[in-house]
Amino acid sequence: MNSDIIVIGGGIAGLSAAARLSADAQVTVLEMESATGYHASGRSAALFEENYGASSVQALNRADLAYFREGCYLSPRGLMIVARADDEEAFLADAQQMGVCRISPREAVDMVPIFDPAKLGFAGYHAEAFDIDTDRMMQDFIRTLRANGGKVITGTAVTNITRQEGIWQVQAGDIYTAPTLVNAAGAWADMVAGLAGVTPLGIVAHRRSMARLAAPGGHDVSKWPMFFGTGESWYAKADAGALLVSPAEEVATHPHDAFADDMTLAEGLDRYEQMVTVPVTRPLATWAGLRSFAPDRTLVLGRDVDMPDFIWCAGQGGYGFQTAPAASRLIADIVNGRTPELGANAVTALDPARLRQ
Ligand SMILES: Cc1cc2nc3c(=O)[nH]c(=O)nc-3n(C[C@H](O)[C@H](O)[C@H](O)COP(=O)(O)OP(=O)(O)OC[C@H]3O[C@@H](n4cnc5c(N)ncnc54)[C@H](O)[C@@H]3O)c2cc1C
Repeated sequence: MNSDIIVIGGGIAGLSAAARLSADAQVTVLEMESATGYHASGRSAALFEENYGASSVQALNRADLAYFREGCYLSPRGLMIVARADDEEAFLADAQQMGVCRISPREAVDMVPIFDPAKLGFAGYHAEAFDIDTDRMMQDFIRTLRANGGKVITGTAVTNITRQEGIWQVQAGDIYTAPTLVNAAGAWADMVAGLAGVTPLGIVAHRRSMARLAAPGGHDVSKWPMFFGTGESWYAKADAGALLVSPAEEVATHPHDAFADDMTLAEGLDRYEQMVTVPVTRPLATWAGLRSFAPDRTLVLGRDVDMPDFIWCAGQGGYGFQTAPAASRLIADIVNGRTPELGANAVTALDPARLRQ
């Protein structure tokens, strides 16, 4: 099957890039699982926090705001950082990084009544953090792609890639051909590069586990802010009447269908439990996802240095949803030879070329 552009990966990165590119080209997305959003994109905490990530990531976050607001993808959540009395230094560092205002432990307990006043030394809060409607976002990108004549083909793993006379030949059951290839394979991005004969960039998957707990103490958790232990050592977030708690681990691993690590989960739940008055009960569910980082923890967006028709759209780390609208627009600008709307400094910081110097 011939297209102008093949996108490998049907997560938020591939779907958003494909939708943007489909305005100017015939685009086919190839996804190995039977459904889109099966891996990292189906397992996120779905938060938009402008101050999260390196400065180039924050530039993407800021550039995204108009898109999120226009599509009504955001709803209020708020973000809180809490710390014990002996953890002031770490609290102050986090408070500065995330731009939260200091509030009293009493005010924190008023917002999240399960905090233990005897343990809470410091708290900071800001309202400017939002839930993202991640499912609707992905479905809307798919709708745009299809409306422009593009295709999403699921259940088809790319197993071989060759290049003949300027055309990629991609084997995924059938043979798919296109002059341009976009690598949006998440944790598998370096493996896909290897298949295409392109030098990998050192993108490494890191596991992060999650437990879903019944609403502690029967509280209505729906208006609670997302709350973090210092140094992102654990976090908790309301989710459809229950509470997600993550140990926030970053354990390097190979690309696979990730699952929660029981010991890591138990340790993380213990860190959460030390700050609250309601004991942890048996989780309703547990899972894990892979957050994939380039060595400098910044996304990799743009043409490969040695193989310009191989486009990197990878290394989304823990920010793949909140960066997707601007990241996908940058990919479309680069492929179409337009001056990127994103600032030049950010474009350079995101360029794969930085990792080959
Ligand atoms: C626990 C957790 C919490 C998170 N919280 C947030 C958050 O609050 N906010 C936020 O913005 N981000 C968050 N993230 C990060 C976000 O989920 C990821 O950055 C994002 O989903 C990555 O999207 P992706 O499309 O690059 O990867 P994926 O969703 O993994 O998609 C890549 C796809 O490529 C496919 N693929 C790979 N190899 C092949 C092949 N050979 N052939 C065909 N298909 C292939 C895979 O099957 C996969 O579906 C979180 C992640 C985790 C794990």
